[in-house]
Amino acid sequence: MAESTMQKIVSLAKRRGFIFQSSEIYGGLKACYDYGPLGVELKRNVKNAWWEDVVTRRSDVVGLDCSIIMHPDVWRASGHLAGFADPLVDCKNCKERFRADKAPRAVPGSPIVYREGGRKDGKKLDGVVPPQGYVCPVCGSGDLSDERQFNLMFRTSLGPVDPMQEILNAVDELAGLEGAARKERLANIIGSSAVYLRPETAQGMFVNFLNVLNSARVKPPFGVAQCGKSYRNEITTSNLTFRTCEFEQMELEFFVEPGTDDEWYEYWSKARFDWYTSLGMKADKLRLRPHEQCELAHYAKACVDVEYFYPFENPDGEGEWGELEGIANRTDYDLQKHTEYSGKDLSYFETETKKRYTPYVIEPAAGADRATLAFLCDAFDEEVVDAEKNDVRTVLRFHPRLAPVKVAVFPLVKKDGMPDRARDIMNELLGEGIQTFYDESGAIGRRYRRMDEVGTPWCVTVDNGTLEDGTVTVRERDSMAQSRIPREGIGEYFRNRLKQSR
Ligand code: ATP
Repeated sequence: MAESTMQKIVSLAKRRGFIFQSSEIYGGLKACYDYGPLGVELKRNVKNAWWEDVVTRRSDVVGLDCSIIMHPDVWRASGHLAGFADPLVDCKNCKERFRADKAPRAVPGSPIVYREGGRKDGKKLDGVVPPQGYVCPVCGSGDLSDERQFNLMFRTSLGPVDPMQEILNAVDELAGLEGAARKERLANIIGSSAVYLRPETAQGMFVNFLNVLNSARVKPPFGVAQCGKSYRNEITTSNLTFRTCEFEQMELEFFVEPGTDDEWYEYWSKARFDWYTSLGMKADKLRLRPHEQCELAHYAKACVDVEYFYPFENPDGEGEWGELEGIANRTDYDLQKHTEYSGKDLSYFETETKKRYTPYVIEPAAGADRATLAFLCDAFDEEVVDAEKNDVRTVLRFHPRLAPVKVAVFPLVKKDGMPDRARDIMNELLGEGIQTFYDESGAIGRRYRRMDEVGTPWCVTVDNGTLEDGTVTVRERDSMAQSRIPREGIGEYFRNRLKQSR
C-alpha cells in the first residue's frame, strides 16, 4: 500500500532529525517526543518569529517568563481545579479510552458494523449508534461507558512530603472511617502538599498583572506575552506532536478597556491569521472558525480558532481541520476571579479620566509544537522534476525565517583548495549568526537534494569559477535556479536576502 503523506512526513522527521519518539531505546513513551538537531532549530525559529512579531516589534506588548508550578490557589481561582476536565469514555469493545467531545459523530440509532475487540481479524458485529450520538474513534463500536469528567492537571507535591508515606501512616485511621469521611481525610492528606504543573501559561500573566502595571509603566491597551511549557494529562493523544501531554504554548493576554474589546478581538483574529500566511503557510489550508455558542467556555464572550488542514489520516481519507491557535475574548473574568480569591484589587485607574475599571482580556493562545508541526506539514512537497526519468524530489519549502539551516556550502570537488575556501565561507556566515551547514561528500546534485529535503533555501558552491574570478554559485531551493555572485561580501548578501524575506 502506498505511504500516506503523514507517514512520509513522520519518517522524514525521524530520518533527518526533526522529531524522535521520546525514550525510544526503551520502547518509547506514549505521546512524548524529542526534537532532534534540525527540529530544535525549526521550533526555536517558530518561537523566535512569534516573539519578534508579537513582543519585540511592538511598543504595546511586554514579555514574562513565569514558573511552571504556581500557588494552588491560582488554579482554585481560575476554575481549573474544579472544572479543567474532559469527558472521558471507555469503549467496552476495544477498551480504548477517548474524549467524548472529539469522537466521530453519528446519528443515534443508525446501524454500524465493527470488529470484535477492535481486531482486524475480529468477528464482524452489528450495532447501532448510541443515544450520545458518537462511536468509538478506534473501532467504531457504539458499546460505550457513560461519560465521566477527568481532570487534566498533573498533580505533584512540593516540599519534603511524600503523600504515599502519609497515606501509609494513616491506613489504620482511614480503615476506621466511613465512605465520605474517608474520602475527605484522604483528600486532605494528598491536598496538603499538592501542587500542579500549569495547564496553560495564561494564569502567570493574570497573577502578575499588578507587577507588570507597576514596573513596566504600561497602560491599557497593552499586552503581556509568554512562551513556555504547559502540561495536560490528555486522554487521547495522536498524530505526532499535535496533541501531547507536555507542550509549549505562546500566549498573549491583551488588556483593554471594556467597550473596546470587540474591536481588539477583531484586530487580533485577523493579525494572528495573517501571521501564519506571512510565514509562508498556504492560505487555502487555513481558516478562522468562530466557536458556536454552545462551544464557548463559560467566561468567554467570543472565541475563534485558527485552524489548519493537517494531512492526518482518518476514516474518510487524508486531511482534517485541526486547531492551531484560539483567540478568545475572556472578558474581565480572570482578573475578577483573582481579585476575589487573593483579596488584591486588580483593577486599573486611568489618571487622565479618573476612571477605574477591570480590563477585558483578548487572548491569542497558540501552541509552539502544533505550529511547528503545521509548518512542517505545509512545507512538505514532492516535486516531479522529470516525469520520464521518474525524478521526484522531496523538498521542505520552509519560509527562510523558519528554515533550520539557511545556507549550505559545498566545495564542488575535494581538491584545488576548494574545501578550505568553502569552510571559510561557512565560518564567515556562522560568524554572522546565519545557520550554515558544510557538506563535501557525494555528487553535487545529491548534496543539493539532501538540503532540499531539510528545507535549506540556499546552497553555495565553490567551483572552478571561484578559482578563476572569485565568484561562487548560489542555487535556489524552490526554483533550482543557479546564479553567480561575488565571494566577497557574501555575509551581507545573505543578511539582505533574509531581511528581504520578512
Ligand atoms: P484542543 O481543543 O485541541 O484540546 P484547546 O482549545 O484546549 O485545544 P487551548 O487551551 O486554547 O487549547 O490552548 C491554546 C493552544 O495550545 C492550542 O491552540 C494548541 O495549539 C496548544 N495546545 C493545547 N493543548 C495541546 C496539547 N495537548 N498538545 C499540543 N498543543 C496543545
